[in-house]
Amino acid sequence: MENVLKPQQKGGWCDQKGKTKALKNRISAHTIIAQGGRCAYCESMLLRGAHAIEHIAPKGIYGDFAFEPYNLVTACSSCNSTTNKGENDTLSPPVNKQDYNANRFVIVHPYFDNPEEHFKYQDDNKTVFDEPNCSKEALATIKMLHWNEMWAFNQRVSTARTRDLPADVLALVGEIVTYRQK
Ligand SMILES: [Zn+2]
Repeated sequence: MENVLKPQQKGGWCDQKGKTKALKNRISAHTIIAQGGRCAYCESMLLRGAHAIEHIAPKGIYGDFAFEPYNLVTACSSCNSTTNKGENDTLSPPVNKQDYNANRFVIVHPYFDNPEEHFKYQDDNKTVFDEPNCSKEALATIKMLHWNEMWAFNQRVSTARTRDLPADVLALVGEIVTYRQK
């Protein structure tokens, strides 16, 4: 396992005869199930083939956190794109490079923060932000991920439609998203 988890420069994954791919698939399946089949940031339903493992503190800057469990989530391809979250720095200085948990983040952290305390909305469907009442971390998230753009608004509308789906339907969607042919 140690050889597989050898980060290359800039925190890239060292590929060893498909072992890295298998590990990434396991991390991906684990995080998707833990997230109920939703994007860790925008909470939209993940679509098959349109999601990726995301490093909250970007691996290009913080290679030491490339395999830190609380730094790994699955995000939709929109939030995760290079023009949105990309390699944007999410850590608030001074940065503690030894202890991930000792850091403060400029955005709402998917594991450490409760989004309901940060994001406020003008409507019950949670599609239009009530920015004056959002926390500064929420405002930084909205700005970094470009959630004021139309694509993100459309995703929030879709998310509103799936918010009240029964648990068994959501579990089925999660299984479909993570399904891989043996
Ligand atoms: Zn998203």
